[in-house]
Amino acid sequence: MKFSIPDYIQSIESYVPGKPLEELEREYGISDSVKLASNENPLGPSPMALVAIQKSLTALHRYPDGAGHRLVHRIAEFNGIPTENIVIGNGSDDIIALLIRALVQPGDRVVIPRPSFLMYNISAKAAGAVIDAVPLKDMAMDLDAMAACVDDTTRLVFICNPNNPTGTIVSQTAFDRFMARMPEHVVVVVDEAYIEFARDPECLKTGRSADLDRPLVTLRTFSKVYGLAGLRVGYGIMPAMLAEMLHRVRQPFNVNALAQAAAIAALDDADFLNQTLDLVHRGLDALYAGLDRLGLTYYNTQTNFFLIDVGQPAQTVFEKMLHHGVIVRSMKAYGFPTYIRVNVGLEGENQRFLKALEAVLFPDKA
Ligand SMILES: *Cc1c(COP(=O)(O)O)cnc(C)c1O
Repeated sequence: MKFSIPDYIQSIESYVPGKPLEELEREYGISDSVKLASNENPLGPSPMALVAIQKSLTALHRYPDGAGHRLVHRIAEFNGIPTENIVIGNGSDDIIALLIRALVQPGDRVVIPRPSFLMYNISAKAAGAVIDAVPLKDMAMDLDAMAACVDDTTRLVFICNPNNPTGTIVSQTAFDRFMARMPEHVVVVVDEAYIEFARDPECLKTGRSADLDRPLVTLRTFSKVYGLAGLRVGYGIMPAMLAEMLHRVRQPFNVNALAQAAAIAALDDADFLNQTLDLVHRGLDALYAGLDRLGLTYYNTQTNFFLIDVGQPAQTVFEKMLHHGVIVRSMKAYGFPTYIRVNVGLEGENQRFLKALEAVLFPDKA
């Protein structure tokens, strides 16, 4: 065919999502499998969000509110900041793509930690950016090395806090030191998709009113602690001038009506949030204890997921776990060929996972 695709598009590696449950069950001829592969909320969606969705169903023939007026106001109130600093998106993935579209031209540089969330890489490549991938140090973001590769052509730096897939945090002190080194033309994006789960008091948290006059963007999502991954809604907090630019390039109805209604209700559902945090924190303790019994190496996390070194090819362990009806994520594509990532499930799901892992790794003991 005659049409031409830029090299930078051809070089993109597709995002490989966690397998959907139904597909797995069909493929393997099993039922009641558990998915612990995409860091989703095991409790399901916020019940208050479900009620709000029910109420919105009869208005589905209408376009959504393109400005997301009510949701933006609720987010502003929740964070104690003005509405002009907020941009809502079709998941925070959408905000990542919009930031890159507004700020990056082909040949510009974007600094990304590695391994981290794959969408930074994919979206930056799609814009023809040159990527400076900075390896983690001791499983955490190496902010000194990231600052050191910033130059006149750098447009964006991505920080994932806590980091996916390692679960490690950036401290407030390390971040302040890093920001002091940033030239003014660089926009720093802090992706806080898992910030609600973090218990370490040192953990950086951005998006406060004092941050609004800096070239700093905070990303939040309703996909994780609020249990709304399937609806696709997230937001960014940023300087008003940058928000204005994102509004120019976004789709006019980028957040659908059900997602808007659900997200407003989810922010009010403090009970659900607390239940989720309680479940995840207790689940982590149970999983750590189980892995200690198996003598496996794992990495403590500030999120709802963590890495385990299974000491053999992760891809094989992943496949064998599927036969036990347990879906985890192989970390091969993230540069950890013997690591799997697992997220906390319900109590019974965590136990299923531990049993399956034991059977897969220590078949002689069974
Ligand atoms: C899950 C996740 C997101 C959320 O993406 P959505 O598009 O809002 O679902 C963002 N960043 C990281 C690091 C994540 O793991």
